[in-house]
Amino acid sequence: MRVANGFGELYCTRGEHWVDPDRFPLDKRAKTGRASWCRECMAEYRRQRAAQAKSEQLRALAKQKQLQPIF
Ligand SMILES: [Zn+2]
Repeated sequence: MRVANGFGELYCTRGEHWVDPDRFPLDKRAKTGRASWCRECMAEYRRQRAAQAKSEQLRALAKQKQLQPIF
């Protein structure tokens, strides 16, 4: 649950830090109208997901190569 502190900032549940409300992306589905993660954490999450997807792709490729007969 997000709460505002004395400075009017909102709590980012991913980064576990207080952030200015303007730095939260709008989210119509959220009750508060704002996402529960700040933009920075959202961007970091997307980067991590993209990197993960890429490494999984590479792993799958490497596996395919290993399965091919050597001779
Ligand atoms: Zn954050």
